[in-house]
Amino acid sequence: MTADSSLDRRFDRALASLRGLSVGDALGSQFFVPAHYPLLKRRELPDGPWQWTDDTEMACSVLAVLARHERIDQDALAMSFAQHHDFDRGYGPAVNRMLRLIREGGDWRELAAALFQGQGSWGNGAAMRIAPLGAWYADDPEQATHQAEISAYTTHQHREAVVGAMAVAAAAALAADPAGPPTPEKLLDGVIALVPRSAVGAGLRRARDMLDYGDAGTVAAVLGSGRRTSAHDTVPFALWSAARGLGDFERVFWTTAQVGGDVDTTCAIAGGVVAAAADGTPPADWLRQTEALPEWVPGAVA
Ligand SMILES: [Mg+2]
Repeated sequence: MTADSSLDRRFDRALASLRGLSVGDALGSQFFVPAHYPLLKRRELPDGPWQWTDDTEMACSVLAVLARHERIDQDALAMSFAQHHDFDRGYGPAVNRMLRLIREGGDWRELAAALFQGQGSWGNGAAMRIAPLGAWYADDPEQATHQAEISAYTTHQHREAVVGAMAVAAAAALAADPAGPPTPEKLLDGVIALVPRSAVGAGLRRARDMLDYGDAGTVAAVLGSGRRTSAHDTVPFALWSAARGLGDFERVFWTTAQVGGDVDTTCAIAGGVVAAAADGTPPADWLRQTEALPEWVPGAVA
């Protein structure tokens, strides 16, 4: 195997994960439109095109930095977030302000550390964008968690937000195992082993105990589904859903979306993890109705 071909495979997996993330994000966000609520119950698609949100926009920067640097370069990542920041993509107010200040020459290290009275953000924003990085490192899940940790600090410095990103990256790496997809139990056990003790970790252990539950609503009521937009009330449920549906993008999407909460983000996470594996591609029709990735993402325009 040449170095180039393994790099090509990393890139192809990460781009596939990014496309799955964008479909989950774009279709998931449709269900914030009240007229679309009944469609969700019937598992029917709203008319396209479906526009993606901040989850996809930030994930595009993650892939662009990996393609350029073959690892996470924090300064390049923070600058890419700031330069491509589109106010109308549904960012939270704290991130909107921070990315504007970085664009105006502010230091991301100081700005990210100062958020929320100096605790840093524990929002789900570092986790929502990171599945493609996990796909990139499918041959090295430990490196996936390490690079995810580094990537998180550029915007989210609270421990829970950082561990949330590590968990999603680990899940995408393990789901894309070149030797074949893991069982749901093996996937969550693998993720749990790769993340430090934390509320996210505790949620993942609860998710592992609930893998045999048939009712997603009950599981979401216990684990959370992003209603507080924190990492720990978002990541465990999204990974529970992804773990149970590897190889079946449609099933994972509907299971994740039907419980409500921060639907674009839970579906971006679950979609990015499932699509990291070769058999997890979204339906062609769903991809067609999803807004194209921006032209500045390498490989986005075929
Ligand atoms: Mg969003």
